[in-house]
Amino acid sequence: SPASVHLGHDVQCKYSAAIPPAEADATVYMNFMKSHRCYDAIPTSCKLVIFDTTLQVKKAFFALVANGLRAAPLWDSKLQRFVGMLTITDFINILHCYYKSPMVQMYELESHKIETWRDIYLQYSSHFLISISPEASLFDAIYSLLRHKIHRLPVIDPESGNVLHILTHKRILKFLHIFVSKIRQPAFVRRQIQELGIGTFRDIATVQQTASVYDALSIFVERRVSALPVVDQQGKVVALYSRFDVINLAAQKTYNNLDMTMQEALRRRSCYVEGVIKCYPDETLETIIDRIVQAEVHRLVLVDRADVVKGIISLSDLLQAMVLTPAGIDALLS
Ligand code: ADP
Ligand code: ADP
Ligand code: AMP
Repeated sequence: SPASVHLGHDVQCKYSAAIPPAEADATVYMNFMKSHRCYDAIPTSCKLVIFDTTLQVKKAFFALVANGLRAAPLWDSKLQRFVGMLTITDFINILHCYYKSPMVQMYELESHKIETWRDIYLQYSSHFLISISPEASLFDAIYSLLRHKIHRLPVIDPESGNVLHILTHKRILKFLHIFVSKIRQPAFVRRQIQELGIGTFRDIATVQQTASVYDALSIFVERRVSALPVVDQQGKVVALYSRFDVINLAAQKTYNNLDMTMQEALRRRSCYVEGVIKCYPDETLETIIDRIVQAEVHRLVLVDRADVVKGIISLSDLLQAMVLTPAGIDALLS
């Protein structure tokens, strides 16, 4: 992505002065995030696409695909302000809401404007845009991402009202990772993940490879998780299906057949990570951070030696443990 291309360069220039001399304690990541602004993590240039709320939802998702993007801020031209975000989760919600069968076209997907969908979908929930100022700390950005359980945080310039960038967990962890490679790290990074208890280890949402895509969408909607390990009958992980992969249904115009199996949907993906990026309970936090940053994925699947799914370690869990826990905050509590 354009973001990762620019990151290494900007960050290396900015960070040589921030190296503590001796052994770091557990607050080192928290302090780093408190002492850097969102502005510092923004790339020098990147693509940003904005949708007017009068655009048709179907065209909006096609536009995300055409631009290789995962989300866009929504502009209301009557109110003359940004009112929300459109993400792949919204595409999932629309498909899940209106799909009937391969024989019946989804009239609502064909005809609704973004504003029509938002009026229906958001009528019982709050619908305000969660954003952050470029001058706010990265600590505040992490808190907001985790507390609101969102994955896209627009950075808005308070003076012009312009969106400067959309921050994600991935970008923030990568920014930290470059800094981390230059310091002595706190002792806890050399402890095993099972000992530290970072991640989710119970009640993992998974999907059988023989289940339908509609079943997977239902799990995304009901459990609100960002990805599903795809398992065989023994519970062994064979693939990973994330919210991002659902955009393939728009890219290939196959959203009218959600009865197809997960196996088929996985086979049809055009852009995906080979295999499953996994980790084991006895691996250290340091190993896990390196692997997740290098693979540029949002989570690792925790497995035992027989590949049976035991947990999920997501960027949300890592940022919670490394940055918010030392501040005495648990933002993942529902
Ligand atoms: P994804 O993981 O698919 O990118 P998110 O988890 O960020 O999606 O989005 C979950 C829901 O929250 C979606 O309905 C999306 O429109 C909404 N949302 C995402 N980011 C924001 C934000 N910054 N402000 C308000 N709503 C948001
Ligand atoms: P996002 O950038 O939207 O957070 P994700 O990291 O969820 O995206 O997904 C990007 C791609 O990487 C998807 O094709 C997804 O299936 C794949 N992917 C994500 N996590 C893993 C994993 N642990 N193992 C294998 N593939 C993964
Ligand atoms: P995420 O949405 O991936 O940022 O993660 C938010 C929280 O949900 C984290 O505590 C994850 O460990 C947890 N989580 C993510 N995916 C799953 C899943 N498939 N099953 C259960 N928990 C999950």
